[in-house]
Amino acid sequence: MLQVLRVAGIPVRVDLSWLVVFGLISWSLAAGYFPRVLPEASAGMAWMHGVVAALLLFVSVFLHELSHALVAIEQGVPVSGIRLHVFGGVSEMEAEPPTPRAELLIAAVGPLTSFVIAALCYGLGQALGGPPWVAALTGYLAAVNFIVALFNLVPGFPLDGGRLLHALLWWGSGRQEWATLWASRAGSVFALSMIALGIVRALGGEMVGGLWFVFIGFFLHQAARASRELIGIRARLEPLRVAEVMTPVDADAVDAPVGSPADAVEPDASAWQAFLKLGRVSAGRVPVVDGGRLVGIVGRRELREALTERPDADVERRAA
Ligand SMILES: [Zn+2]
Repeated sequence: MLQVLRVAGIPVRVDLSWLVVFGLISWSLAAGYFPRVLPEASAGMAWMHGVVAALLLFVSVFLHELSHALVAIEQGVPVSGIRLHVFGGVSEMEAEPPTPRAELLIAAVGPLTSFVIAALCYGLGQALGGPPWVAALTGYLAAVNFIVALFNLVPGFPLDGGRLLHALLWWGSGRQEWATLWASRAGSVFALSMIALGIVRALGGEMVGGLWFVFIGFFLHQAARASRELIGIRARLEPLRVAEVMTPVDADAVDAPVGSPADAVEPDASAWQAFLKLGRVSAGRVPVVDGGRLVGIVGRRELREALTERPDADVERRAA
């Protein structure tokens, strides 16, 4: 993973998988779209247009994620970074939105940004005139941003539409767990439909497009299921205090660096907070600090023990 830049204090990282997709998109544009809309252009020119269009597509995806991140920060949700990966991008938030309203705003601004970019590109294409490649490029960006916005509005986790659905269900019922359960179920249904559609397309001869649908469907299905499993983990960890699950350390005997204070938890915090922190630190364990003094360590082992010792709460049934 490469950190490429920092925007408004937010680190932006790019997965290496991104480079593969960048190459594939450039190639498909250079070999398919541009020769079709610009039949007079040479192969070299088609490639140049393809690369530029793919770059601008990724800038669009980045702006979509940046809008989520900026609204999240404005709503009091810390953002540890923006990551661009093979399926697009993600804004890594360090906490759940505090209210349904905050979640609604954070989720809605992404598709809205993509719609605005689509409209701007369309408008520019109409207004600029000029050589035909301008219309080809702006036309492509308008269409693709429009599709990104629509796709993200599908009401199922982990898509923005799933977040919107979650916020509305949470708002209406006051039950966050129940909202998560249904938003993630809706996400699973959509993901499985995409896989089915992909298989049908592949069998019908559209191998690459079909497999791509299957691929995205699996990714979405995994993410939807993970959000369901998190409800169970959260329900079991939230009532526990860090002090109950940590491995105590004698501060005088330990020379280990405590790490940055931002990565530490307090003994009175819930074990769920330690779990969230653990997902962000590379060390694999979180220092427990009481009044500036290291008093313990929470790692995967401590949390796994805490989870297995507790009787398995039947969260799905309770939430339903
Ligand atoms: Zn989004």
